[in-house]
Amino acid sequence: MTDHRFDTLQVHAGSRPDPATGARQTPIYQSTGYVFRDADHAAALFNLQEVGFIYSRLTNPTVAVLQDRIAALEGGAGAVCCSSGHAAQIMALFPLMGPGRNIVVSTRLYGGTVTQFSQTIRRFGWSAKFVDFDDLDAVRDAIDDDTRAVFGEAIANPGGWIMDVRAIADVADAAGVPLIIDNTTATPYLVRPIEHGATLVVHSTTKYLTGNGTVTGGCVVDSGGFDWAANDKFPSLSQPEPAYHGTVFAETFGPMAFTFHGIAIGLRDLGMTMNPQAAHYTLLGIETLSLRMDRHVRNAETIAAWLEGHPAVKAVTYAGLPSSPYKVLADKVCPKGAGALFTFALKDGYDACVRFIDNVKLFSHVANLGDTRSLCIHSASTTHRQLQAEQQIAAGAAPDVVRLSIGIEDADDLIADLDQALAKAAGAMAAE
Ligand SMILES: *Cc1c(COP(=O)(O)O)cnc(C)c1O
Repeated sequence: MTDHRFDTLQVHAGSRPDPATGARQTPIYQSTGYVFRDADHAAALFNLQEVGFIYSRLTNPTVAVLQDRIAALEGGAGAVCCSSGHAAQIMALFPLMGPGRNIVVSTRLYGGTVTQFSQTIRRFGWSAKFVDFDDLDAVRDAIDDDTRAVFGEAIANPGGWIMDVRAIADVADAAGVPLIIDNTTATPYLVRPIEHGATLVVHSTTKYLTGNGTVTGGCVVDSGGFDWAANDKFPSLSQPEPAYHGTVFAETFGPMAFTFHGIAIGLRDLGMTMNPQAAHYTLLGIETLSLRMDRHVRNAETIAAWLEGHPAVKAVTYAGLPSSPYKVLADKVCPKGAGALFTFALKDGYDACVRFIDNVKLFSHVANLGDTRSLCIHSASTTHRQLQAEQQIAAGAAPDVVRLSIGIEDADDLIADLDQALAKAAGAMAAE
């Protein structure tokens, strides 16, 4: 299967007709438990000597198809699905981290991730150092003896800026730590981070992979290429793991070590499990991923160019625009297109943004992205509200900025909606 191309893999990878019924679409296996053949079979499963289904907190046949499909699309060795994108980030860090350890992360991240990394993970004794990833020396300097991973978004939320994945991967590599890429906004159709040197890829499957705003989910993909035993930084993988009766995951499972650890310990003990219905919706969405992404990108290119020429607009961040400082990097990292998520700033500032948001009709004012429908949000008053002013600006969510997630509707209809909302925002300003 892995020698097939992307458009084939997105329909077929991981699935086959149901062996019991012949059902062609992947059934929703709505079962928590699975009958063991006999006591030896049960023992082999619990010893990880045989791969199979035990209990749906760990493994479920519908979820397993989705894991195999995303791993195939990303070009990874294995994948573990979980309940949300934020769960995936914790699942990715959990085997690597311990009290006193840190991660070096980009300043340009999804607002919820900034909060998760700057506040919540501190309860575990972990910390994050926020660095401008355009400055490779700053990334290099931030990595210290306690650093266990480098983390960034390939196409960064909310501005759609592009990360030089290969250059950052080389910095992480030289320091002996893995690069984790949040590939949510790019999807493996536009960027395959493992081909650019990343070790782990995390997803919020809630967004483009499902594609229609129905279910939350997450996924961690492992390249299978990182040598966890090359240094003593990753004892959960390279030393006997006390949480699984002394199993040495790197030795026993080779390129599948991280994936097996994620299931046998991560899902078992953290319990952030994806349910089979969510996996089913996401499998349906993934079948059309490349078709949707091509349309998302085409619409985003058209609309970003139109906005750039609008007199009320101060700036547009879309990396696919010839004027963008990220255009050269976009052509290198994501030649098929720079995604469909970007921001624009209004000359009349915060109040004009709020009036714009209140007047859109076709665009929905929603705290989501990657839907077939076009969405907009004023980040500074919503998703990035809990950030300090300088964090908002560093994250590209300044008070005069609106984020757009461009859908797959007709671009002319979307432009007409933006045009009337911008006119109302400007008109209200003039009247004041
Ligand atoms: C939405 C999102 C997340 C969090 O995912 P959830 O499924 O909402 O938990 C993480 N990173 C990015 C880039 C996102 O857009």
